[in-house]
Amino acid sequence: MALLMVDNLRTWFHTRDGVARAVDGVSFQVDPGEALGVVGESGCGKSVTFLSLLGLLPSPPARVESGTALFEGNDLLQASPAELRRVRGRRIGMVFQDPMTALNPYMTVGAQVAEPLIVHGGLGRADARAQALEALEAVGLNDAARRMDLHPHAFSGGMRQRVMIAMALVTRPPLLIADEPTTALDVTIQAQILDQLRELQAQAGMAIVLITHDLGVVASFCRRVLVMYAGRIVESAAVEDLFAAPLHPYTRALMASLPGTRPAGARLTPITGRPPDPRRLPPGCAFAPRCPLATPQCHQTAPELKEHTPTHAAACHLAGEGT
Ligand code: SF4
Repeated sequence: MALLMVDNLRTWFHTRDGVARAVDGVSFQVDPGEALGVVGESGCGKSVTFLSLLGLLPSPPARVESGTALFEGNDLLQASPAELRRVRGRRIGMVFQDPMTALNPYMTVGAQVAEPLIVHGGLGRADARAQALEALEAVGLNDAARRMDLHPHAFSGGMRQRVMIAMALVTRPPLLIADEPTTALDVTIQAQILDQLRELQAQAGMAIVLITHDLGVVASFCRRVLVMYAGRIVESAAVEDLFAAPLHPYTRALMASLPGTRPAGARLTPITGRPPDPRRLPPGCAFAPRCPLATPQCHQTAPELKEHTPTHAAACHLAGEGT
């Protein structure tokens, strides 16, 4: 049974300049213990999707227009703010790109990692501190017993990200949502943090949703991947299938634009044009203005996400036609 089942999520931003359809009819599931990648350019709706589920978008201007998001039998989109706080504190861990915005500069890191155990887990201070130390050691923070009494400004970017991961995992949640967790870090630290996450995932049997613009990170970390464009899922596949035979021209363009992920022999080519303004989406396929294969039908009718094999779906009129 799915751990998280999202159906037809629509999150729109009501601005003075019009309605921005940031997320526009997204459905997917996360299975227990799996690693799911969500990729796309910035502004494609990948972060907004998960911020909507967790009740972390400012409203107004954001409004969830439709959808359900069943997590452990409860619809997150119907939950009260207090229920969502509990879910975020205990059942769904979160790691963001910039740990400094999520860490409190006035509290020691040990106290911050221990806090969810005290607030949501009902533990006493000494027990919470002992578990916080364990969590900091588990994420590879060197000399954790001493460093837990320091404040975040005394830490490097990589160490702060480890602290964020420890905070997210200390309550042993069944689901971790990691939004560009390594983007701000240099390549060596990136690899170390991803290795650490992989190890923690295997040990705890936790599911991870990894939100990233980097298909290379998805290739090394995830089992399944969703590709998003202009607020919709345009391709959904097992990672091997996606890399062996991408069905959507946008996925192929993403691969060709990233070193290390393009098909053998293909040249490195940037994607031409820009994603559409979510307040003024074109009437047909949102990728049509940038798509080298666009036909008149593409400019008129938006393609539905269609299964081509049990593990591979794409939203493109030409998918599977040998293009
Ligand atoms: Fe390109 Fe048409 Fe497919 Fe859209 S539906 S990605 S425009 S071929």
